[in-house]
Amino acid sequence: MLHRNFSLRSYNSFGLDVAASYFVQINDLSDLEDLYKSELWKRERKLILGGGSNTLFLDDYFEGLVLWVNNKGISLSETKNDMVRVSVAAGEDWPGFVQQMLNQGLGGLENLSLIPGKVGASPIQNIGAYGVEVKDVFQGLLAFDMETGVIVDISAKECDFGYRSSAFKTVWKNRFLIISVDFLLSTKPQLKLDYGAIRAELLRMGVREPGIREVGLAVSNIRRSKLPDPSQLGNAGSFFKNPVVHQLVFNDLKQEFTDIVGHPDKNQTVKLSAAWLIERAGWKNRRKGNVGVFQHQALVIVNFGNATGREIFGYAMEIQHSVKEMFGIELEPEVNFV
Ligand SMILES: Cc1cc2nc3c(=O)[nH]c(=O)nc-3n(C[C@H](O)[C@H](O)[C@H](O)COP(=O)(O)OP(=O)(O)OC[C@H]3O[C@@H](n4cnc5c(N)ncnc54)[C@H](O)[C@@H]3O)c2cc1C
Repeated sequence: MLHRNFSLRSYNSFGLDVAASYFVQINDLSDLEDLYKSELWKRERKLILGGGSNTLFLDDYFEGLVLWVNNKGISLSETKNDMVRVSVAAGEDWPGFVQQMLNQGLGGLENLSLIPGKVGASPIQNIGAYGVEVKDVFQGLLAFDMETGVIVDISAKECDFGYRSSAFKTVWKNRFLIISVDFLLSTKPQLKLDYGAIRAELLRMGVREPGIREVGLAVSNIRRSKLPDPSQLGNAGSFFKNPVVHQLVFNDLKQEFTDIVGHPDKNQTVKLSAAWLIERAGWKNRRKGNVGVFQHQALVIVNFGNATGREIFGYAMEIQHSVKEMFGIELEPEVNFV
């Protein structure tokens, strides 16, 4: 069903009071195929939207057609040894899907528990948390080519996954609407417990021999204690990526800022803590009108009330500027601007 002048307030996790000239819910492939033939499709600018938890609307009105992906379905398609291939519709809720897999004893996604959003968006920025990224279990996806109207299979290699990036954010930006994603999960997964406070949380929970469900619960507990709930305080999680610099650049910074936080990454690089850079540049507790950084995590920019997209963007750009001035490092936004 097509809606006109549709409010997107409950469709973006910043809680911005924005609207779109056209909004349509995609429940199955035939919805897309019909739309593709329409005048509206040819005429209007298009925006694919999942849960809206990684999207910042800059203006209060989107002139164009919002395609809200809401198809459903999870199927276990193939089993080999301890591995199970799972096909998931793009419109499934990510945290719900992960929980369902954990309940069925299928591991691989437990460290990605409670990340907001929908399954279809998970490959876009190769979502990651607690030492795991979607690419680690990704098997391929089915997408609708918005230019040709053809459905295509896309492999992991073609996605060109990187740290919070993929071809969908670069060369293929706005080209493919992801219909479903395939993952390879395991009935005997190797647990990854050495990242963040997972072990400490399991200890606090009194769990000595954790399985995937306990790990998922530990990750969820940690996330609830550290991150703002978008239904209470509008936000899109980390606003910026953690910058990756060469080891030599890190050594120079370390001389001047002895407590700088960074972790060794690939090929003689170091991943710096963007939260540390932002706090050190003086942004902790610095609120401007309706916008500020979250008190427990400076990487998360929050909407304290009726902020506009432009206010949030302006605040983020000020942070970016001051970090550049102080450390010579350009923070790259993780959030998608519309
Ligand atoms: C509190 C909080 C914590 C978060 N923590 C993490 C974290 O730990 N790790 C992490 O990686 N991210 C995190 N995020 C960011 C966010 O949850 C993820 O990026 C998530 O994948 C976004 O899903 P979505 O459906 O809400 O995407 P949307 O915001 O709807 O869309 C994001 C982008 O994907 C595109 N897109 C969406 N669906 C499709 C589709 N079916 N086909 C093609 N393109 C599509 C959109 O056009 C847009 O460019 C967090 C966000 C919040 C609010």
